[in-house]
Amino acid sequence: MADNKTIEMQDVLRKQHSAHTQMRPEPMELRKDRIKRAMRLLTEHSEDLCKVMSADFGNRSPHQSMITDIAGTVNFGKYCLKKMDGWSKPSKRSVQFPLGLLGAKAEVRYEPKGVVGILSPWNFPVNLTFGPLMQIFAAGNRAMIKPSEFTEKTSLLMKELVEEYFTPDECAVFTGGPEVAAAFSELPFDHLVFTGSTATGRKVMEAASKNLVPVTLELGGKSPVFMGESADFAKAGERVALGKMMNAGQICLAPDYLYVPESKQDEAIHGVWQGTANMYPTMLENEDYASLVSDRHFDRLQDMVADARDKGAEVIEVNPGNEDFGSSNARKMPLTILKGVTDDMKAMQEEIFGPVLPVKTYSRIEEAIDYVNENDRPLGLYYFGEDSDERQQVLTKTISGGVTVNDVIFHVSMEDLPFGGVGPSGMGSYHGVEGFREFSHARSVYTQPKIDVAKLGGFKPPYGPATDKAVKTMMK
Ligand code: NAD
Repeated sequence: MADNKTIEMQDVLRKQHSAHTQMRPEPMELRKDRIKRAMRLLTEHSEDLCKVMSADFGNRSPHQSMITDIAGTVNFGKYCLKKMDGWSKPSKRSVQFPLGLLGAKAEVRYEPKGVVGILSPWNFPVNLTFGPLMQIFAAGNRAMIKPSEFTEKTSLLMKELVEEYFTPDECAVFTGGPEVAAAFSELPFDHLVFTGSTATGRKVMEAASKNLVPVTLELGGKSPVFMGESADFAKAGERVALGKMMNAGQICLAPDYLYVPESKQDEAIHGVWQGTANMYPTMLENEDYASLVSDRHFDRLQDMVADARDKGAEVIEVNPGNEDFGSSNARKMPLTILKGVTDDMKAMQEEIFGPVLPVKTYSRIEEAIDYVNENDRPLGLYYFGEDSDERQQVLTKTISGGVTVNDVIFHVSMEDLPFGGVGPSGMGSYHGVEGFREFSHARSVYTQPKIDVAKLGGFKPPYGPATDKAVKTMMK
């Protein structure tokens, strides 16, 4: 039996569908107005949103939140506004000879799908809700959102604000736990975007399959960092430290583990150590350094480190201020580097999603390539080094959602590049023209000329010599 929330969600979906059908094809001006309203919502309530995100995390720097969740998303809205007229132009296609000469025409029209569901996670709760929303609107759709229960205050504020800036038949937010999320993923949307873990992604795809709802799955995984012999280890360490320590490692694209030449291991670790110490001389009272989002998450990471230690890894805490993390209840954890890791350790089996950094070594780069290929296809892959043959070898012999060379994570911030995973790290993508197309239906339209093409081509019974000739030509 469906509960009240499910009935309410079904009702809103019906209303959005009906409003969409009446408004099809959703005029460009209205789509742009929706994007502008979403941008205004974020701009006018940026401080409140940063405050609630910090409260949900325990501590999260408002500066960081402004960069990652507010300004980054507003900027993406601007990019969509600039590009969407071009994206939505029908694309002319060729027709087989001699149909063109006879007046036949073919084109693809990018049309709105209808109502798109968004299931978003807690780690960038605003960005990963409003980011996809910008392109969902650009493509002329309406949206229903179920944000994460882990960032409850942020989810509630997003609901209030969406109600203020949008009518319920344009965009609506539903809050609640995993039961609400499960019921949400069973709704007969025209498309569903899920951002979260691979395990939950499987459940979402299964639920969506009952109604054959197409899905975009933005999942996670273990994104490796290849450091070549030719890398500048001090600079690479600094960049890895920035990517690993932002949001305390709670980033889907965070560098998960390092793969370094045996002879350079200490230099590489020192680079990361120094990079971390430069940015975070202290952490406990440092507003710039985020807390882990929940006790469960904190305990999982402590357990991961204990497991690695028990199984023989060397544990290096990057604690430049010599702070006593054990007696604090701030859910803050220093960067913890694991040296000498083996495959039976949890740190090498699960996505880390926190400030723990295993380091593996290779004597030949091929070993690192083979290791990555033997494991799940990652969301991101990073290469540091100046050896262009080696870089090419790493890029062509592996597969991943995306790549950043000589840094980590940055490819996601390039608005014109599609962002998504492959295999267990996800399917489909958004950002770039690909995102607009993801939320559009590519509808083929063929216009037949006046002349009887079927007869002329020999495709019309009674079949005869003209048919044989046409078949022969096609087979040539
Ligand atoms: P999660 O999978 O636990 O939860 C994500 C969302 O799924 C939440 O809104 C939750 O309510 C909902 N959910 C829970 N149970 C569900 C069910 N049975 N059916 C449908 N929905 C359900 O993920 P999380 O812990 O919030 O986020 C962390 C994970 O997300 C990491 O694996 C990370 O790599 C991944 N991630 C990926 C991206 C990306 O863009 N690829 C971005 C951020 C996070």
